[in-house]
Amino acid sequence: MTLDDTTAMQRAIAASRRALAAGNRPYGAVLLSPEGRLLHEACNRQETDADDTAHAELVLVREAQARLGRDALRGATVFASGEPCAMCAGAMFWAGVRRIVWAASNPLMAELLGGELLGGELLPARCADVLAGSRPPVLVEGPLLEREAAEVLRQARPAP
Ligand SMILES: [Zn+2]
Repeated sequence: MTLDDTTAMQRAIAASRRALAAGNRPYGAVLLSPEGRLLHEACNRQETDADDTAHAELVLVREAQARLGRDALRGATVFASGEPCAMCAGAMFWAGVRRIVWAASNPLMAELLGGELLGGELLPARCADVLAGSRPPVLVEGPLLEREAAEVLRQARPAP
């Protein structure tokens, strides 16, 4: 199955909804081959795994490498419902991902979730800045479907 950008991002946002429903942070990620074939989907699992590094993109890289082999990620694209953090951007680079598309920007996530839910923790580096000058280069694009992604983020906000 090959997916266009919008459909791939819709799936990443759907994964963010599943993450939230499972009690995790509201983030999802989808892996596409260089030809646009759907390879893998992942949800944030920080709470269910009791692992602070279990961001959706990192779960995606680990699961996809284990299931498909490391070569499968070479030249691949990741669609992330939230702009990847510095940790995930680095992990995707080292795994061979060469295009990253995100929905909700880091500043928007900080605005919507930066307070109570994250205990005030913020890592403000932008994904494109983290990967700037990388060799080989990684194409970073976004926002795509930011409003749809933000709807899920808003549901994660603690009641006032
Ligand atoms: Zn991350």
